[in-house]
Amino acid sequence: MDVQLFEKQWEKLSERLKENKKIIITTHQNPDGDAIGSVMGLYWYLKKCGKDVSVIVPNEYPLFLQWLPGNDQIIDYKKNRSEAKLLIEQAEIIFHLDYNDLGRSGDLKNKLKKSKATKVLIDHHPYPQLEADISISDTTVSSTAEMVLEMILKLGGTDALDINIGTCLYLGIMTDTGCFSFNSSNPRTFELVSLLLKSGIKKDEIFSLVYDNFSANRMKLMGYCLHEKMQVLPDYNAAYISLSMEEQERFDFAVGDSEGFVNLPLSIKGIIFTALFVEREDKIKISLRSRGDFAVNTISEKYFNGGGHKNAAGGESKLSLSETIEQFVSVLPNYSKELNA
Ligand code: 5GP
Ligand code: MN
Repeated sequence: MDVQLFEKQWEKLSERLKENKKIIITTHQNPDGDAIGSVMGLYWYLKKCGKDVSVIVPNEYPLFLQWLPGNDQIIDYKKNRSEAKLLIEQAEIIFHLDYNDLGRSGDLKNKLKKSKATKVLIDHHPYPQLEADISISDTTVSSTAEMVLEMILKLGGTDALDINIGTCLYLGIMTDTGCFSFNSSNPRTFELVSLLLKSGIKKDEIFSLVYDNFSANRMKLMGYCLHEKMQVLPDYNAAYISLSMEEQERFDFAVGDSEGFVNLPLSIKGIIFTALFVEREDKIKISLRSRGDFAVNTISEKYFNGGGHKNAAGGESKLSLSETIEQFVSVLPNYSKELNA
C-alpha cells in the first residue's frame, strides 16, 4: 500500500478524530477473520486515544473468531438491534472496514445509510460503491487489517501498538493471506508483521486458536465433503463441493464449519477453479476460488449476484441447490480457454 497516496485522507481523518468522540466501527455480514481482526485492532487503538468506541457487526461469526481480546464488546445487530440503532444514531464517525458496498452490511444497511456521521471507508476490495467522506481503498493490500495497521502507524506511530492491537491485526492478515500462502508477496506485509511481533503477540497461539479449534463434527463433515461430495471436472481444471441443509444437520453444522472447504480441491494437481455451494434457508451461498490469472470475481458478479477479489469471491443464488450447480456447470464452457490456458 502506498501510504503517501492517501496523504489528504489521513489528514482529514486525523482532524475528524480530534474533533469527535463517538465512533462506530462496522464490517460486512458473515464476518471473516479479516473483518473481525481489523475492526477489533482499530477498536483497541481508538480506545487508547480516549474515544467512545462501539463495534457493530451485521450478524454472527464463527466460534474460532470469538476469542479475541474485547470479543465480548462486539454488538451483533441481529441480537441487539435497539442498542445498535441508538449507537448509530448518536455516532459522529462511522468506519466501514473490509467492505465497500453498503449492500454487504446486511440489515445494517438502512440504518447506516440514514446516519449523518462522517463515513470512513478502509478496504481492499475492487470497485468501491460506498460513498464515504474519507475513502482509503487499495486492492493491492493483503488485508484490511494491514491497512488499519498503516493507519495506526501514520496517526499514532509505532509506540501506539500493543499486544491487543497486534493480536487482532495479525489475525486479520494471517486469515486473509491463507497463513501467508497468497496475497502476501509484498515485503511490506512482512515488515508490518515484524512490528506486530515486536508488540508481543503470540503468533503460534493465534494460529492454533483459529485453525486447531474445530469440533470433531466439523472434521467429519470435511472428510464427508472430500470423500462423497467433491466433483472434479478435469476438462475445465475445476472442482466443486455442495452441502444441502439435510447434510449440514447430519453433522450438527455450526456457523463457520464450512469455512475453508472451498480451498480444499485447489490442492489437487492442475485444479485452478473451485466452488462451494452451501444451502441456507432462503438462498444458496456460493464461494469461488482460483489460482493464478483466472478471475472469479467477474463470474460471481455476472452469474451469482456477488463480487470479491480476483482469486476469492462469493455470491448467492435463489435457485435450488441442484439448479445452482447446473447453472455453474453450464457456464464453464464459456471459460474453457482461460481454464485450459
Ligand atoms: P467467501 O467465499 O469467503 O464468503 O468470500 C470470499 C470473498 O468474496 C470475500 O472477500 C468477500 O468480500 C466476497 N464475497 C463473498 N460473498 C459475497 C457477496 O455476496 N457479495 C459480494 N459483493 N462479495 C462477496
Ligand atoms: Mn479482507
